[in-house]
Amino acid sequence: MPQKTSDTPMMQQYMAIKKDYPDAFLFYRIGDFYELFYDDAIKGAQILELTLTSRSHNAVDPIPMCGMPHHAVQNYVDILIEKGYKVAICEQMEDPRLAKGMVKREVIQLITPGTVTDSNVNEAKSNNYLTALTADETNQFGFAYADLSTGELKTSQLNSIEAVINEVVNLQSKEIVVDQSIDDSLQEQFKKLNIMVSHQNKIEVKSELSYLTQGLDEALEKNTVETLLTYITVTQKRSLAHLQKAVAYEPSYFLRMDHYSKYNLELTRSIRSGKKQGTLLWLLDETRTAMGGRLLKQWLDRPLIHKKEIEDRQIKVGELLDHYFERSNLQEELVKVYDLERLAGRVAFGNVNGRDLIQLKTSLRQIPKIQHVLADLDDKVFGAMLAKLDPVDDIADLIDRAIVDEPPISVTEGNVIKDGYDAQLDQYRDAMTNGKKWMAELEASERKATGIRNLKVGYNKVFGYYIEITKSNLSSVPEGRYERKQTLTNAERFITPALKEKESLILEAEEKSTTLEYELFSKIREQIKLEIDRLQKLAKQVATLDVLQSFAVVSENYHFIKPTLTKKHSIDIVGGRHPVVEKVMGRQSYVPNDVKMSNDIDILLITGPNMSGKSTYMRQLALTVVLAQMGCFVPAESATLPIFDQIFTRIGAADDLIAGQSTFMVEMQEANRAIQNATPQSLILFDEIGRGTATYDGMALAQAIIEFVHNHVHAKTLFSTHYHELTVLDQTLTKLKNVHVGAVEKDGDLVFLHKMEDGPADKSYGIHVAKLAGMPEELLGRADKILKRLEIQNKDTDQALVEQEIKSEKQPQKVSKKHSTQSHKSSEVDEQLALFQTAPSDTQGEEVLAQIRNSNLMSMTPMDVMNQLYKWQKKLGNK
Ligand code: ADP
Ligand code: MG
Repeated sequence: MPQKTSDTPMMQQYMAIKKDYPDAFLFYRIGDFYELFYDDAIKGAQILELTLTSRSHNAVDPIPMCGMPHHAVQNYVDILIEKGYKVAICEQMEDPRLAKGMVKREVIQLITPGTVTDSNVNEAKSNNYLTALTADETNQFGFAYADLSTGELKTSQLNSIEAVINEVVNLQSKEIVVDQSIDDSLQEQFKKLNIMVSHQNKIEVKSELSYLTQGLDEALEKNTVETLLTYITVTQKRSLAHLQKAVAYEPSYFLRMDHYSKYNLELTRSIRSGKKQGTLLWLLDETRTAMGGRLLKQWLDRPLIHKKEIEDRQIKVGELLDHYFERSNLQEELVKVYDLERLAGRVAFGNVNGRDLIQLKTSLRQIPKIQHVLADLDDKVFGAMLAKLDPVDDIADLIDRAIVDEPPISVTEGNVIKDGYDAQLDQYRDAMTNGKKWMAELEASERKATGIRNLKVGYNKVFGYYIEITKSNLSSVPEGRYERKQTLTNAERFITPALKEKESLILEAEEKSTTLEYELFSKIREQIKLEIDRLQKLAKQVATLDVLQSFAVVSENYHFIKPTLTKKHSIDIVGGRHPVVEKVMGRQSYVPNDVKMSNDIDILLITGPNMSGKSTYMRQLALTVVLAQMGCFVPAESATLPIFDQIFTRIGAADDLIAGQSTFMVEMQEANRAIQNATPQSLILFDEIGRGTATYDGMALAQAIIEFVHNHVHAKTLFSTHYHELTVLDQTLTKLKNVHVGAVEKDGDLVFLHKMEDGPADKSYGIHVAKLAGMPEELLGRADKILKRLEIQNKDTDQALVEQEIKSEKQPQKVSKKHSTQSHKSSEVDEQLALFQTAPSDTQGEEVLAQIRNSNLMSMTPMDVMNQLYKWQKKLGNK
C-alpha cells in the first residue's frame, strides 16, 4: 500500500506547525519557494491569483497546493495583509544540504495588519497603530497602542465604550488585541468597523521588556500594555529594542473631537474620497520628512488646550515666518533627512542593510547643518530646541568608517565594509587581490611559455580556476604540462597543482571575508542599537521642527495670522476664511466672513438660502479653532478666540454623504452626544439638524435642541437651519443671535453673496434654487402659485395665532410684529405651534392625556390600540 501523502514526514511537520496558526495563512518555505497547502492554498490561490496545483497528484490523497518564489513574497504578503488577513512566515531553520532527516522549520514571524512593518502597506507619512483593550470589574477600559515601525507606545484609561471606539477609529487602527475581559458584543462592534480583533491573554512579559511599563501607575494601563507587549512578542519573535517606554496620556489633555466630528470637518480624510486630498491635513502638509508628516497628523488629531503650550508653538511659527531665508535653508536640510524613526526600528528588528545605514549617516550629517540654521534664529525662541538636538555623531562616524558608500542590498554577500576598517578583513582582501593578480600573471606567463595567444585563466563555481585552451591550439600544449579537467565543444580546461593551491587560498579568503563582513556588520548594528533611544529623541526634535516650519510655510502661502487666545468667553474673527474651500476655489473668489460672539451670545442661528455658504461658515469656525489650538496661525485678518475643550459637529442628514449613515437615528445620536457632553467651553456645530424627519417633528426637535443648549449647555453653538420659523427664537432666548447669508435677486435670478449679516434671512428661495438646478418652467410656475396661496392663507392664521398667544397668559410667547406678519411663513410653524403649545385645556382633554401617558403600549395588541384610540376620540368629541 502506497504511503499517503499526508503521512509523509514533511506534511506531518506542516500540520504540526499549522495547528498553532489556525487563523493565518501559513507560508511554508521549501527551498526557494513558499508553499501554501489545503484550505490556505485554495483560498490563497483565489485571492493571490496563483495557480492551484496539488502535491503528489497521483497519490490517493492529493493535497491542494500553491506557491510563490521566495523573493516575490513581499507583494503577496502585502495583498493578504491589506485584505485583513494574517500571514505566518515559516522558514527552514537549517541548510537543507547539511540537515539530517527533515529540515527543521519554524514560524519566524506572524505578520498581521497591526504589526506589519516592512512592507509598502505602510505609508511614510502615517502611522500604523496596533491597539489593545482590556477591562476591569468596574467597567473601566485600559487602552494602549503601539506603532511597531517607530516604537511609539502609549496608554490611557477610558471610561466608556464610546471613548474606546473613538480612540480606535481616530488612530485608524486596523487591529485590536483584546483579552477575555472584553465581551463578544464589543468585539463585534470592532469587526463591523473593519478592525481585526486578535485574542491574547497576558503572559509574563519578558524581563528585557519590563522597563517599558515602569512609569505606569495605573494597574489597568499596565495590564493593557503588557497584553499588547505579549501579543507583539508572540507574533514578532524578534528584537523589540526600539519600543519606547509606555507613556500614559489623558484624552482630556487635548481638544477632544469624536471621530464623527473629525470626519465631518474633513481633517485628515475627505468625505467624498476618503483620501487626504481636499482635507485640512492636505492644506497643512508642507513637511519635508516622513517623521514630520506623521507628527503633523498626530497634532491635528490632538490639538492642545493649554495656553502656554499653544503659545510656545505660535512663537516658533512666528519666528520662522519672519525669517524667510532661514526657513528655506531649513527646508532644504530637512529634505535630506530620512525616516530616522523607522530606520531605528529596522536596526532593532535586525533587518537593516548597508543602504539603510548610509541613509542613517546621511540623515545624521544633516543635523549640524540644521543646528547651524537654528543658531541664526532668535536664541530665546529656538535656543532650548537647539540645545536638545543631538547629532549622534559617534554613530555617524562609525558608519562612515565602516560602511562603503554604495553598499549592496544584501548584507551576507560581502562588499559592505570599507577597506581599512578591520585589519583581518583587509588581510583576506589582500589575499584575494594577490591571488587574482597571481592568476593574471599566470595567464601572461603561460601564454609566453606555450605560445598560445588566446590561452586564458578562468573561473566557474563548479570547477574553480582553470586554464582554458581552444581545440585548435591543443597541439601546442607541451605533454604533461597541465592536468586535464573538463572538455567543452571547442575547448579543453586544465589545472595545475600550483593553480589549485592558489585557488584554495583565494576561495578561503573569500569565504572568510564574507563571513567576517557579516559579523562586523552585525556588530555595528548592535552598537547602533544601543543608541536607539538617542536616535528616537533626535527624530522627535526633527519632526517637531518640520511641523513648525510647515505651519510657517502654510501661514505665509495662505495669509494666515496669529490668533490671540482669550480667557473671555467670546469669539471675534474678522475676515475669516475656510482655508480648504479658499484654496480650492482661489483667494479672489472667496468671500471672507466675520464671526462675532460676545460674552453674552452663545448661539448663532444661521439662516439663508441653500448653497449660500452656511455649512462653509460653520466649518470655517471649527477649522480656525483647530488650527489655533494646534499652534498654527489662522485664515483671518484678525482673530481672538477662547480655548475650547471639545468640538461637536452634527451635519444634518441631507448633507450627510456617507451611505448608510444618513439615518435620522444617527443624526439624533450625534446631537445627543453633543448635548450630553458639551461644556460651556465647548463648540457645537449643528448644521440643518432635524432635516432627517418629517417637517413638524424636525422643527420641533430643532427648536427644543436650541432651547436646551441655550438654557442648560451654554456652549458656543452655531445652528444653521432652513426652518425660518425658528428665527423668532431671538425674542425669547437672550443669548441667541440671528445671522443670515445675504442673497439678492437680480432679474428673477438669485445671486449668493456668501456674506454673513446680522438678523434673520427674509426668504427661503427654495424655488430659485430649483430654477438654478434647471427644473422645467412649468413646474416652477406651478410651485410659485402654490407658494403664493400658502402665504396668503398663513397671513390669516398667523394673525390668529398671535392673538391666541397674547391671550394665553400661561406661556407668554413674545412673537414680534415683524416676524409674525412676514408673508413668507409657511403653515408648518402654525401647526407646529398648535401641536406643541396649545394642548387641550378642558378636563376631558386632560383626562385623555393622562391615559395616554399611562398606557402600557408594550402589553397592548395593535387592535387594543385601535380600540383605545377610538374611545379617546369619542371622549374628545369627534366630529
Ligand atoms: P449651504 O450650507 O448654505 O447650503 P455651503 O456652505 O454648502 O452652503 O456652500 C455652498 C457653496 O458655496 C460652496 O461649495 C462654495 O463653493 C460656495 N461658498 C460657500 N461659502 C463661500 C464664501 N464665503 N465665498 C465664496 N464661496 C462660498
Ligand atoms: Mg449646508
